[in-house]
This record gives sequence, structure tokens and C-alpha cells, in this order.
Amino acid sequence: MRLIVAGAAGRMGRALTRAIVETEGAELSGAFERPGSPAIGQDAGELAGVGRLGVAISDDPLSLVVSADGALDFTTPDATVALSELAAQGRIVHVIGTTGLEEKHLARLDAAARHAVIVRSGNMSLGVNLLAALVRQAAAALGPDWDLEILEMHHRAKVDAPSGTALLLGEAAAEGRKISLAEHSVRSRDGHTGARPEGTIGFATLRGGSVVGDHTVILAGSGERVELSHRAEDRMIFARGAVKAALWGYRRKPGHYSMADVLGFAG
Ligand code: NAP
Repeated sequence: MRLIVAGAAGRMGRALTRAIVETEGAELSGAFERPGSPAIGQDAGELAGVGRLGVAISDDPLSLVVSADGALDFTTPDATVALSELAAQGRIVHVIGTTGLEEKHLARLDAAARHAVIVRSGNMSLGVNLLAALVRQAAAALGPDWDLEILEMHHRAKVDAPSGTALLLGEAAAEGRKISLAEHSVRSRDGHTGARPEGTIGFATLRGGSVVGDHTVILAGSGERVELSHRAEDRMIFARGAVKAALWGYRRKPGHYSMADVLGFAG
């Protein structure tokens, strides 16, 4: 499967190049960065630390999409929406790890998914998707008198909060409780907030250092507490998940899929 990497000079972009190189059945056919990036023209393999691959970083995704079967994209919401339109024209698989997407971005991804196979997840790791399934089960088993709080920590350069993974875990909890996350989430607290409203799902965000991604879902009852945690130690877990998602999506019918579909954890 011929794959292109969007944002190939980024933290995840470089990990994605490494994951493609180590995966049988996958081949790096192109890599791009935003126009004006100092990475344009550099070899994607050298940038990723896997040696020369003969794939120069381009600033023209359209020319790459026409000769690719899929694109791996961990960039920014605007870049992701633009690439989804090219992926739809080229009818290729678009694997999206970008977080911080808002309703306006999601609506455009849904439109693109009429022609492209989109696999999107706030977290592409096996462990977090298993954790989400466990959280859904725990939230369903323990009633709304068990308070649900989601704590996350990431490196100092992360630009969106709460993390896409924290929101994914919040969605899983809300599904377990059969409630809408949008209507029940408390995304931050400051000052005289009053007592905690029953049935809400709270988020707390920590930022610092080089933390790849720590998440804990706390179910706090009266007199006891259950904590379900995941710690990411290496970005390669997300990159390998993304390549797996691309291979899964190859020749599948167009649609907007999740990593839970890829791993068989959906539902
Ligand atoms: P990063 O190091 O900033 O990488 C993003 C790259 O995309 C940068 O090289 C950036 O270039 C490039 N870019 C921006 N606009 C572009 C455009 N229009 N066309 C092509 N390239 C463009 O960030 P990161 O840590 O790799 O994270 C990227 C995203 O993935 C974030 O949303 C993060 O939350 C998410 N993420 C998701 C998962 C998951 O499993 N789903 C895991 C880890 C991270 P410039 O720096 O020059 O702007």
C-alpha cells in the first residue's frame, strides 16, 4: 500500500515514516509539509532517522495523492480538512490522528467520507482503545452516584486541551451512561464553582516536560474509588496504529470509521 505522510517533519510525522518503513505491505510514496516549511526538499527518511529513502518532502499534497493509496495525517485541523478533500477526490484512505477538531471541521470530514475511507481517532494506540472499552463497561456498571473524572498530562508543546484521548475516554464513559458528553462535561473549574453536579464528567489537564501522554479515568464512589490508567511511553504506538488503520481501510467502502472499528472494539 502506497502511503503519504502529512506534516512529515513533525513529532508524529517522523514516527509515521519510521512505522511505514518497518511495516511489510506498506511503502512511503510521498511526504509533505506546509508551504514555506524549512523541511521542504529534505529526504523524509533522513529526517525520521531511518536513512535515505529517496522521498523528498514536498509542499504539494495534490501531486502526491494521485499516486497514493492512503495518507497518514497528524497535523492541524485546517490542514486535515484540506487533505480530506483531496483524499475524497483521489478516493484514498485518510487516517486522521489530528486532535482539536471542532464541529465545523467534523462536518467537512463527514462530507469527504462519502468518497474517501476516513479512519479517525483521538488515540491510535491499542492500549487506549482497550481502556475506552473498559471505561464504557465501568461507567455502565456503576451508577451516576459514582463521579467520573478524567485526568491527563502531556508535554509542554501540546496546543489543545483537553487532549483528544481524554475526550475519547469521556465519550466512552458517556456512551456507558447513555448520556451526551457535550451536555454533561465540565471541561475546567476555577473559583467558587459550587458542589459537583451529579452525573457530570469532569476533565483536568496537566502540561509539562516531555510526557508523551498519561490518562487516568477515576470513578469515585462514596468510600471507594476505581482508577483506570494508560501511559504512553513512545509515539511509535500511535504511528503503528495509524499504519494498521491504513492497511485495514484499503479497498474498504467509503465512510467515517474509528480505531475501535479497526481493532474490533466498537459497540
Ligand atoms: P507537531 O510536531 O507540531 O507536528 C505537526 C506537523 O504538521 C508540523 O510539522 C507542522 O508544520 C505540520 N503542518 C502544519 N500545517 C500543515 C499543512 N497545512 N500541511 C502540511 N503540514 C502541516 O505535532 P505532533 O505532536 O506531531 O502532533 C500532531 C497532531 O497529532 C496533534 O493534533 C496531536 O494532538 C495529534 N496526536 C494524535 C495522536 C493520536 O493517536 N491520535 C497521537 C499523538 C499526537 P509546522 O510546525 O511548520 O507548522
